Amino acid sequence: MLEKLKSWIRAKAARVRLDVWHSPDYRLPLPGLEARIELRRADFALWALLERRVLSPVRLHTPQRISYPAMARVHDRGYLESLTLPATLGRIFAVDPSELVVDELMGAVRLACGGTLAAAREALRFQRATMNLLGGFHHAGRASGGGLCPVNDLAIAIAELRTEGFEGRVAILDLDAHPPDGTADCLARDPRVWIGSLSGAHWGPLPDGVDETVITGADDQGYLAALESLLTRMPPPALAFVIAGGDVLAGDRMGRLGMSLAGVFRRDRMVAAALAGRASVWLPGGGYQPEAWKVLVGSACALVGGAPPSWPRGHDPMRARFTAIAAGLDPSALRGELTLTLEDLEGDLGGGRAAPRLLGYYGPTGVEHALHEYGILDQLHRIGYGELRVVLDQTPGGDRLRVLGRASGVADGRLGGREDLLLECVLARRQVAGASILFVEWLTLRNPRARFGPSNPQLPGQEVPGLGLAREVSQLLEQVALRLGLAGVGFRPAWLHTAWAGRHRLRFVDPARQGRFRALMRDLAVLPLGQAARAVADGRVRLDGAPYQWEADDMVAWIDGREPDAAARALEEDVFVNAHFEVVP
Ligand SMILES: [Zn+2]
Repeated sequence: MLEKLKSWIRAKAARVRLDVWHSPDYRLPLPGLEARIELRRADFALWALLERRVLSPVRLHTPQRISYPAMARVHDRGYLESLTLPATLGRIFAVDPSELVVDELMGAVRLACGGTLAAAREALRFQRATMNLLGGFHHAGRASGGGLCPVNDLAIAIAELRTEGFEGRVAILDLDAHPPDGTADCLARDPRVWIGSLSGAHWGPLPDGVDETVITGADDQGYLAALESLLTRMPPPALAFVIAGGDVLAGDRMGRLGMSLAGVFRRDRMVAAALAGRASVWLPGGGYQPEAWKVLVGSACALVGGAPPSWPRGHDPMRARFTAIAAGLDPSALRGELTLTLEDLEGDLGGGRAAPRLLGYYGPTGVEHALHEYGILDQLHRIGYGELRVVLDQTPGGDRLRVLGRASGVADGRLGGREDLLLECVLARRQVAGASILFVEWLTLRNPRARFGPSNPQLPGQEVPGLGLAREVSQLLEQVALRLGLAGVGFRPAWLHTAWAGRHRLRFVDPARQGRFRALMRDLAVLPLGQAARAVADGRVRLDGAPYQWEADDMVAWIDGREPDAAARALEEDVFVNAHFEVVP
């Protein structure tokens, strides 16, 4: 009975309305960051919030780009001008300037600023919490940017609200793992703004009036005690901004704190309670490790008074999303049956040349339709390619799919408006371990606009940098295998880094080989991936004292639910424990 009452109260509480701002363009169009940070955080969080009904679709809002006059109220004119240059943005986002599409990148940032402003207006109107799924750009000062923050959305929103007549006191509760240097620079002189910060690093003195607590390496207990103390010092605000940073999680590359997901949820619940009945805008701040999107989902759950979200083992937000999209695709559209031409008919009757079908199923327009539905064409467009074209044909190795496009808006003559290969794969059905699987004979994802640099070093076998779409493409291939009734997706990694990219989903078919691969990962973990891949490719790695040559064996992601048997597991474990790799200089 008590349990029933409790769940009724929870359900009732879960009906607290939460308005959320998001745009598909919140994903920063920066393929060079793909290997280092998760750029799909806002999308993953949004999909989970909608799927779990924490967020109602009618409470989801699309932001508008913030105006130039609004940005100019906070930022220095010369500095804003410098944000039109790839070199400035390349430094702020730590990517090679060659890959930057300035309008697209600043478009995403300005959308986020517009989201923070709209969320603040809504919060003030109804005296409650709202959330923007990108924002909290706290490292942007009046005339400087850094750490993925070109302009300061909090300062811009406050300046805009002031021009609209809002006079009240503002509290900024900055719970990102880094200090609010830019926000302090923009706002510390405003006596009606209080800034409280709890972070894991001290970057030098902040202006007077910033309440700063630094707790390097703190776990849940230490962090929450410091937060409790900070909350008692927060003056009651008319409007609060909460940067509910995801980089406080243990294992974040850039944060220096060690919190658990459960601890971060308690953080958000404490803050939500302290600000109950007041206008507050919640922003994600930093946090780009693979689990950081779960922090954002947790913040929303805390705001609606729900339970902390739990996740099934191995839950992959992208697979969940792609599975839902696949279910909504019309098979006859994928086969292109609606656009059957006379030649197709002749081909089927053996009288002429048939338009090639991928794996005997997908027609060219069907492939293009699917690439659009899964968002891949849009991403190619956003990272700077137009006139996209899908070509299907046959090669001796299997059926080939290519996506070609032209680099748009490129000033340098390297590309010269020519058509370039962006995506190419060769696919075949193949028998592996007694089952018919989708075998990827060849796959390349190419970003010919971009150049290699210190931030994205050239990996063995790479001619040009990648597109940052490997995760989408591998999910897409799983959906193809499912649709064709195949047992899995496999490939033969030619390099350490290609095996590494598939390590979560794919396993080597041979258990001893899987054991050696895991041992190699374990023993070379001290090196950055690029250096480890280079060492293996150059023959500078030894296995139990003898020179080791990379073994390009079959790896498969089984989608028919099969698991290795006990004997295979025991063999894998035995090899894993006993194999020892070392790098020789
Ligand atoms: Zn941070």
